Amino acid sequence: MSNKELLLVVDDEEMNRQLLSRRLERCGFQVEVAAGGAEALTKVGSTSYDLILLDQMMPGKSGSEVLREVRDKYSASELPVIMVTAVTESGRVAEALDQGANDYITKPIDFTVALARIRAQLSRKQNEAARRESQELYEIAARAANCGLWDWDLVSNRIFYSPRWKQMMGMPEGDAAGSPEDWFAKVHADDLSCLRRSMDAHLREEAPLFEAEYRIRHSDGHYRWMVARGLAVRDERGTPVRMAGSQSDVTEAKTVDMLTKLPNRLLFEERLGAAVERCRRDSNYVFAICFLDLDRFKLVNDTLGHTGGDQLLIQFAERLRRVVGSSGVVARLGGDEFALCIEGVATPNMASALGERLVRTFRPPYVLEGQEFFSSASAGIVLSRPSYANAAEMIRDADVAMYAAKMRGRARWAIFDEPMRERATTRLELERDLRMALSKGQFVIHYQPRVDLDTDQILGFEALLRWKHPQRGVIKPDEFITLAEESGAIRDIGLWVLAEACDQMQKWRQQFPSLTDLDVSVNVSPVQFRDPAFVAQLQQILTETGLEPARLQIEVTESLLFENLEEARKMLFALKEIGVGLKLDDFATGYSCLRYLSRLPFDAIKIDRSFTRELGDSNPESKELIRTILSMAQNLGLGVIAEGIENRLAAEYLRNQGCRYGQGFFYSPPVPSKDVTEMLAAPGRSRNGEKSGS
Ligand code: C2E
Ligand code: MG
Ligand code: MG
Repeated sequence: MSNKELLLVVDDEEMNRQLLSRRLERCGFQVEVAAGGAEALTKVGSTSYDLILLDQMMPGKSGSEVLREVRDKYSASELPVIMVTAVTESGRVAEALDQGANDYITKPIDFTVALARIRAQLSRKQNEAARRESQELYEIAARAANCGLWDWDLVSNRIFYSPRWKQMMGMPEGDAAGSPEDWFAKVHADDLSCLRRSMDAHLREEAPLFEAEYRIRHSDGHYRWMVARGLAVRDERGTPVRMAGSQSDVTEAKTVDMLTKLPNRLLFEERLGAAVERCRRDSNYVFAICFLDLDRFKLVNDTLGHTGGDQLLIQFAERLRRVVGSSGVVARLGGDEFALCIEGVATPNMASALGERLVRTFRPPYVLEGQEFFSSASAGIVLSRPSYANAAEMIRDADVAMYAAKMRGRARWAIFDEPMRERATTRLELERDLRMALSKGQFVIHYQPRVDLDTDQILGFEALLRWKHPQRGVIKPDEFITLAEESGAIRDIGLWVLAEACDQMQKWRQQFPSLTDLDVSVNVSPVQFRDPAFVAQLQQILTETGLEPARLQIEVTESLLFENLEEARKMLFALKEIGVGLKLDDFATGYSCLRYLSRLPFDAIKIDRSFTRELGDSNPESKELIRTILSMAQNLGLGVIAEGIENRLAAEYLRNQGCRYGQGFFYSPPVPSKDVTEMLAAPGRSRNGEKSGS
């Protein structure tokens, strides 16, 4: 078969047909002829022509009638028709064009003009076919990419939507053409202006591409997240006449956390918004939300690497899911932050029960990369109330409650109340000030003597940090150490304390050469302790100050051992290697891991002041516990220091039980270094003076 274009010439006059077809054939076309309207229609029914030249005036079926029937079956782009009319029939020409003729030529025929018009129609038809083909291809590609297509004729303001576009929103596929309202009326009110702005920017040529992300209502009533992209087509003057593009459903990527497969912050906020709304209308509808944050998650990442951190998050999410069950939503807000929304939690008592249950759930160790690992989390709980205007208000309070929980120490929970917010504001201000405190020289160290309970001799000092805040006065470490740990500022602050305390101790040793055994204890936060550079930094401080390692004691708390025992053990041995002393602080306040103690190189334990304080009240439990600790320590060959001795009664009891060392207000509160210098210069004064307060 030839690939010549096939034309049909319809004319009732034999000569016209002959002339025209011969000349057209000479120009490379293949031509068939029909002598009248009826014959023409039969031929069109059985053969596929590329173009028809149709005489307007014919006996029987007129050109106009033939045209109408052709157009019933074929569109103007599928089968172009050029009308052939007499010059005098301009009214007919208009009518024919109106009925769907593509063009016209007048009799007597100017062949050059006729040929140009035929070629123009054929090439337009070809372009159209190519466009359709590429559109089909694009449609296939788009379907593979799971996106819908739209094609907007800006002149007629009609949009063609692809079947997939409609399907994505649960619309019946039906008619492909539609109005822009099919689209914009369904877009979430909060997203519409952004969508329009992006579109306008592209139409005004301010943006190379139209691109927008928005929610759109599916016919099931839920909003889905979509991304639309499009490009405008402009005429010669640059006026946009058409815009076309795609829309894809990104709901899953937008609302599901990929690591834990939990709903993400966006979805949580959406659900919470709906719950708050419902609570405003229906006073019987109650719920609570809870924000959770893994304590010191950064450390996990630092020690176990990101895979370990990821594992912890996944296991944590699993535990949360088990607690909540089907009564609520568990979401990952990002990083190590999670949130719950639980229905039916109506009273502070119920909220407390929830808090307890959560904290208990986090207690057992996690197995990460084959190692047991302890990790706790803090929880802030907020109860719903009809006065919450929106999700954001409730989230803000949950943040405050979680912050309060963290400030109470690790593995704690807190229920939001109004005064809490004010305290949180104060905290935030402190946090801000804390960042500058070191460089502004606002820290000082006070020293509290440690004495021999038998002789009242001063054996050494514990360095205790004080922050001289320009507005708030002296702030105790309990109020800012946690803040400094959270921000990491504790590393620099801690190094400063070590350097300052070592330097001071070295000065005292030079000033009082007879006191050869005097030492200084410095508290080290787990955050510092975990820093791989810590040992080297400590070594350097000792070298620079010239203090013998044995004259420095490092105090760490039990909590350190629970996060990662193996790593803590390595670190403790590395410090032991240097020759510094090691004390386990606040003993018996935490989980009391006696069975680990024998494997660790501690020199002494410090009994927490909460036990010592109760001795005066003749609390039998504390007495029993202290006896147990003393005998256990003896078996393990550990020294024991009792903290917080406030009166003679406690001092005597401890001494009688065989406790050799102690510190407390009864002997001396923590005091500035110049007071220590005086104390050392005149021994016997003020070690057991009945002074108090610090
Ligand atoms: P800690 O190491 O257990 O220190 C003992 C705390 O008990 C000190 O509180 C001290 O002032 C207080 N104390 C001493 N004798 C008595 C007494 O007879 N009765 C009562 N009720 N309290 C007494 P302080 O100075 O407020 O420090 C609190 C905690 O802050 C310390 O507990 C320690 O864990 C931490 N800390 C202090 N300085 C530093 C530091 O430089 N770095 C780090 N990381 N933590 C520090
Ligand atoms: Mg201490
Ligand atoms: Mg202590």
